[in-house]
Amino acid sequence: MSALPAPRHDQFEYVRCYLCGSADAMPLVIAEEDLTGKPGRFLFVTCQDCGLAYQNPRLKMERIGAYYDDEYIAHRKKTDWGPLKPLYEWAMGKHDRDKLALVDRYVSLGGHSAVLDVGCGAGTFLEEIHKHRGPSVSGVDFKDLTHLPSYAAIDFHLGLFYEQPFADRRFDLITMWHFLEHDYDPVRTLEHARDLLAPKGRLVIEVPRLDSASFRLFKERWPGLQAPQHTALYSRKTLLAMLEKSGLELVEYLPYGAFPAYFYLFAGTAFKFLKGRGLNLSKAIYPYFLGQLLLLPLLLFERKLNLAMQTVVCKVPGSP
Ligand SMILES: [Zn+2]
Repeated sequence: MSALPAPRHDQFEYVRCYLCGSADAMPLVIAEEDLTGKPGRFLFVTCQDCGLAYQNPRLKMERIGAYYDDEYIAHRKKTDWGPLKPLYEWAMGKHDRDKLALVDRYVSLGGHSAVLDVGCGAGTFLEEIHKHRGPSVSGVDFKDLTHLPSYAAIDFHLGLFYEQPFADRRFDLITMWHFLEHDYDPVRTLEHARDLLAPKGRLVIEVPRLDSASFRLFKERWPGLQAPQHTALYSRKTLLAMLEKSGLELVEYLPYGAFPAYFYLFAGTAFKFLKGRGLNLSKAIYPYFLGQLLLLPLLLFERKLNLAMQTVVCKVPGSP
């Protein structure tokens, strides 16, 4: 349990739909901060004009930082797990290897290539791709974790992605692993990414999928809500519409991601029981791996079941 107080009314702001600009919206679900148990209730609405689900009101940007504390899994250091460290490192290493295997299908990278990871967190994906494919690697995040050994080869930019100029640099691969659903201005972000792509460059975006089995199962306790950090929740339809609005062309749509759908099945079940009290990840790790073993037959078909994630690969329209 955290000491952070529930946010005050004046720490929120109202926004219009990120996709179509409409203010016409209906309530979808009220979410709590289920992962760490911080207080507060957060409303997601559905745009009545285009169908995008988004948080409204949302916390002002200067207030949201407090929710990205050390409990946040993407920023978690590798050394927090005590005797379970090897198992945790294996699982996190597998996640980075799965990301690499996914992007390998769309780009062939070498020593002259350049890769940018937006929302690079602990930097381990960039470390992995640099080590095994050799490109120069750049990362952007609003949290500075450059003291970590994984950052040795990373050209790091601190701050908001769309405010990073990068001058005349172009990237063969830009990745956004669970970044876009946190973004306060997703169209601006996607347009900036489009402008930074090399001629044959690819942009790979993974986000939770709203029109998925796990959302239908868990509703207000769906881990993909991750309130208040998630500003928008994308279905296949609204994600593709946002790409089009941002001047990007779809190369392929995947009804899964590199992030394990099992995490959502496990966390959603835990959130149902905990009812907003927060999940102690160090205590949950034994049931986590046990559950994964039990569900293995189901998880072998993860890519066909539309459980929780989605990934789009896109490019500049008309480019090779
Ligand atoms: Zn809309």
